[in-house]
Amino acid sequence: MNYKIAVLAGDGIGPEITNSAIKILNKTGDKYGHKFTFKQLLAGGIAIDKTGNPLPDETIAECKKSDSVLLGAVGGPKWDTLPGNIRPEKGLLKIRAELGLYANIRPAKLYQSLKDACPLRYDIAEKGIDIIVVRELTGGMYFGEKGIKEINGETVAYDTEQYSVSEITRIAKIAFELAKNRKKRVISIDKANVLESSRLWRKVVHEVALNYPEITVTDMLVDNAAMQLVRNPSQFDVVLTSNIFGDILSDEAAMITGSIGMLASSSLGDTSRGLYEPIHGSAPDIAGKDLANPIATILSCAMMLRDSFKLFDEAKNIENAISEVLEENYRTADIMSEGKIKVSGSKMTELILSKI
Ligand code: NAD
Repeated sequence: MNYKIAVLAGDGIGPEITNSAIKILNKTGDKYGHKFTFKQLLAGGIAIDKTGNPLPDETIAECKKSDSVLLGAVGGPKWDTLPGNIRPEKGLLKIRAELGLYANIRPAKLYQSLKDACPLRYDIAEKGIDIIVVRELTGGMYFGEKGIKEINGETVAYDTEQYSVSEITRIAKIAFELAKNRKKRVISIDKANVLESSRLWRKVVHEVALNYPEITVTDMLVDNAAMQLVRNPSQFDVVLTSNIFGDILSDEAAMITGSIGMLASSSLGDTSRGLYEPIHGSAPDIAGKDLANPIATILSCAMMLRDSFKLFDEAKNIENAISEVLEENYRTADIMSEGKIKVSGSKMTELILSKI
């Protein structure tokens, strides 16, 4: 099969890590008889420098023509002082909206060979961490009515948490579908003891659950979830959350697995086209030094193969290649520990390529 992939390398380490991922996809294509065609497009700070716009129209049009999108990372100190509407991050929000991507999927997995990188107690890490956070991405407080007004001579700011039945239904379906191929457990996070929007969230999630009798659904209040993630993370399988709760909990879930350089993500909508990206940023402190860990971006490509193209064996082959290299004790600087073999980002890419 032929697949067209739009590549938004972006800023900082973005070009290094997307180049690594392209090499892995090409080798995978050679092995399994697929052709991946890559179209490099401008986004983020580099797009501002070249066109004055963090997401040029050509980038949007080409992404819409592609089978999927691979994003490196955008942003950096050079663009930090620009006004909000032409900041690199604006491009990121816009591409998600343009492609109708309302679900953010973040796996947080602790590789047994990286247990030393886990900041939790050994007996907790020992039980394993393998969580998928399904975060609603285009609703809730980040998009609800907001403003600043004067009340009794004082300035008051407000942001509104608002969810419709259809928004909750579609994100819940994504979580239940993912749970089917995992341990068949969904934990839905809300604050139903206080928030009206959470009470609707809980009601709708349970209505959707009726269509998935094989899946166990449990409700958990967000404050308890934050605590349970560090106390007993092995109890979580699929975590279903709203936009703001997911923003916070997915970073917490990421952190307990060790390095940010290991974690992939995807943003999905109603079509098979998704946007796949590492969860980390553009890491300007290490850009151009061949220090960046390419694994998060390579794992994002494995997600693309599985979730957008249904290439299950190919995705597994990439994940196995990464596990093998880690088991042979090779580490980039961010996941280095005593007694292991430290390698550069490009060497790590070569090692993974050799296992494909
Ligand atoms: P960051 O994720 O870029 O970096 C945090 C720390 O992790 C740094 O020390 C960095 O060196 C390290 N790190 C990150 N990725 C790594 C990798 N692959 N290998 C090894 N080490 C890695 O977060 P930050 O420093 O807060 O942000 C830097 C810039 O990235 C900012 O402009 C921010 O707005 C932007 N950002 C972009 C995205 C995105 O494009 N999706 C996400 C987060 C931050």
